[in-house]
Amino acid sequence: MKRVVLFGPPGVGKGTQGGRLASVLGVPVISTGDLFRAHVANGTELGRRMSALIAAGDYVPDSVTNTMLAERLAENDARSGFLLDGYPRTADQVAELDRLLAVAGTALDAVMLLAASDDVLEERLLRRAAEQGRADDTPEVIRHRIALYHAETEPLVALYDAADLVLRVDGVGTTDEVHERLIGAIGQAEPSTLP
Ligand code: ADP
Repeated sequence: MKRVVLFGPPGVGKGTQGGRLASVLGVPVISTGDLFRAHVANGTELGRRMSALIAAGDYVPDSVTNTMLAERLAENDARSGFLLDGYPRTADQVAELDRLLAVAGTALDAVMLLAASDDVLEERLLRRAAEQGRADDTPEVIRHRIALYHAETEPLVALYDAADLVLRVDGVGTTDEVHERLIGAIGQAEPSTLP
């Protein structure tokens, strides 16, 4: 398992779990949300143009997102594998990812779908809002991001189901519990538990 998409709604734990899972797999995490926030923090032209969209919880246009992702995937550390967090989110992005991997002569190994109810997601994001103060963690924007996920992104799971790539994992529980489920789902032992 070297080319993995971590899929799921905002607040389900993709950031936390993605980091741990990626270190087990020995691949870099590529989070489009983190890449966008770095652009905003660094005041790049992309960041300045997209900051209002991002703060409102709307999706950045596919042309911008796809270009940024293609550049990141072309970097050396991503050649032998990656864990994607927050990409793809639209049908256009699914197609672009397929195309990029085909050009590279590779393909996805798995799409891990983390799940939790909307109530749990909202509660977690509100808690994070108090801790981290992200611009898009206000109650209204949180509800909008969850609704946008259901409307635009969740239906894409069917495309990956058709390719038999989806591994479903319950995202409710402690960080360790969810991590163990993810590891179990990919059938890979923790390095520390190997003899
Ligand atoms: P979350 O999953 O909690 O909504 P992310 O950190 O993944 O947060 O993304 C933050 C924001 O960055 C999104 O609300 C959106 O504006 C933008 N973004 C991230 N990834 C994408 C993507 N693949 N396509 C379009 N916009 C994106």
